[in-house]
Amino acid sequence: MPVRCSCGVRNATLKRPKTGHALCKECFYKVFEEEVHRTVTDGRIFKRGETVAVAASGGKDSTVLAHVMKLLNERYDYGLNLILLSVDEGITGYRDDSLETVRRNQQQYDLPLKIISYKELYGWTMDEIVQQIGLKNNCTFCGVFRRQALDRGAMMLRVDRIVTGHNADDIAETVIMNILRGDIARLQRCTAITTGTEGAIPRSKPFKYTYEKEIVMYAYFKKLDYFSTECVYSPNAYRGHARTFLKDLESIRPTAIIDILHSGESMAVKSDVKMPTQGTCTRCGYIASQELCKACLLLEGLNRGLPKLGIGKTHKAKLDKVLRDTKQMEDNVEGESLESLKHIETSGGDSLKAVSLDF
Ligand code: SF4
Repeated sequence: MPVRCSCGVRNATLKRPKTGHALCKECFYKVFEEEVHRTVTDGRIFKRGETVAVAASGGKDSTVLAHVMKLLNERYDYGLNLILLSVDEGITGYRDDSLETVRRNQQQYDLPLKIISYKELYGWTMDEIVQQIGLKNNCTFCGVFRRQALDRGAMMLRVDRIVTGHNADDIAETVIMNILRGDIARLQRCTAITTGTEGAIPRSKPFKYTYEKEIVMYAYFKKLDYFSTECVYSPNAYRGHARTFLKDLESIRPTAIIDILHSGESMAVKSDVKMPTQGTCTRCGYIASQELCKACLLLEGLNRGLPKLGIGKTHKAKLDKVLRDTKQMEDNVEGESLESLKHIETSGGDSLKAVSLDF
């Protein structure tokens, strides 16, 4: 016997992963969209007239985000000027294909699109980085570079804010990872609906309370055009374990995801947690808690053939040594050698400087 949807008009066609309610498709779309709208309004994410970049990778989260942001912006008259912003990491067989999806999304949603690449910003593609460093720590490079690339793209576009497709599962995983690492400072940041207000362009997560399974369901029933292949360099073992653990918990008790997220929020209110002091990178001007920002430190290692330089916790002594050595090299090198040193400098930090001058 078919189960009726709670609207009483139609039969239910799905069971909502978040609540277990039996719903018809129309009611599912409604609750899904209304929950995102409530997250946006309760979190006071936007101000009328803002230009907002939707970080678009072509994957399910960002595709649904672009679709829902456009829909809510029109339905509730948020008054936002939306733009798609994509990062091309230079991963053959993955990002080149997913960017094709983003280009189609641009047509489907009729939104402007800006693509910014690692090659133009850093002088390296991820394919080249992996050739140099292998398949260990590649996601550290990629994550640091992507974070900065999005900010730089957003500055070029002069946007007021970036929205990302991070969902409740992503945040719950990050809460678990930060607890396992004992990293309370990051715990505070990872549960915030908006981050980056101190110096960087604010980033917000309209899907903070949205379950991944519901995003997949929404994309599937709405027949949205998204790319679902995994990155060819995707080991990320630590997050993978946290994800498996979370999925196991979810299968026993679906509210586990939202419960972990709320626990993270309550733990994060501890006020005596020391946050690193933010300054600016002496090389590229990006926000940094040390003399060099993490991206410039990683680039310095890549360009010197010492890719492990910026991996792990950077002790001040290590950083001081890099800066001392660089200074000494600059003092000593003349003529031809100076040319090779220039290569080291220009293929990394200076290209960032060149970009930052355009902002
Ligand atoms: Fe980059 Fe790693 Fe993600 Fe691939 S899996 S896109 S290398 S962070």
